[in-house]
Amino acid sequence: MKPAPVKIQTSAGGVVYRFTPKGPEVALVAVKGGKVWTLPKGTVDKGERLEQTAMREVAEETGLEAELADRLGEITYWYYLSEEKARCKKTVHFYLMRYIRGNTVDHDREVDAARWFPIEEALKATTYKGDREMLEKAKEMLKRKLKGAAGGGHGENP
Ligand code: ATP
Repeated sequence: MKPAPVKIQTSAGGVVYRFTPKGPEVALVAVKGGKVWTLPKGTVDKGERLEQTAMREVAEETGLEAELADRLGEITYWYYLSEEKARCKKTVHFYLMRYIRGNTVDHDREVDAARWFPIEEALKATTYKGDREMLEKAKEMLKRKLKGAAGGGHGENP
């Protein structure tokens, strides 16, 4: 029997953060009937830069406007596309993004829900290992930003 063909897909997404008096919060979206909490992301359109895709998908899926803060890295996973009888290798590029304005009630219908989580709760709520890897990285970067703020440097005020 011939092996299933392999399809390559590229997506981009983000960890949107905001500082609250209780600590940093990040936005997650629920999919699969609300059972799976994951990071907002989506397919890169033709001619689009990864950063543009990440900003667009985050805005659509979470209802939040955010600006790019840092590159987080990428994750790769495999899944089976049953309609095409192909194995799909997907790479998702993630960015850390600072929340500007907007409300998660304005999420689009691609997702079942969108909401803010304290970062530690987001780490527990997410289903996928790759999402947790990105959230751990974001957590470390946010710690550094807070330290910078406390030291009077270029950090951000909570
Ligand atoms: P996109 O949002 O990039 O346009 P999509 O909604 O078409 O993509 P995915 O979210 O990649 O598709 O989901 C395809 C399959 O991969 C699903 O079975 C899903 O459970 C699984 N999947 C999604 N995200 C991850 C992840 N971070 N790690 C492992 N498997 C994942």
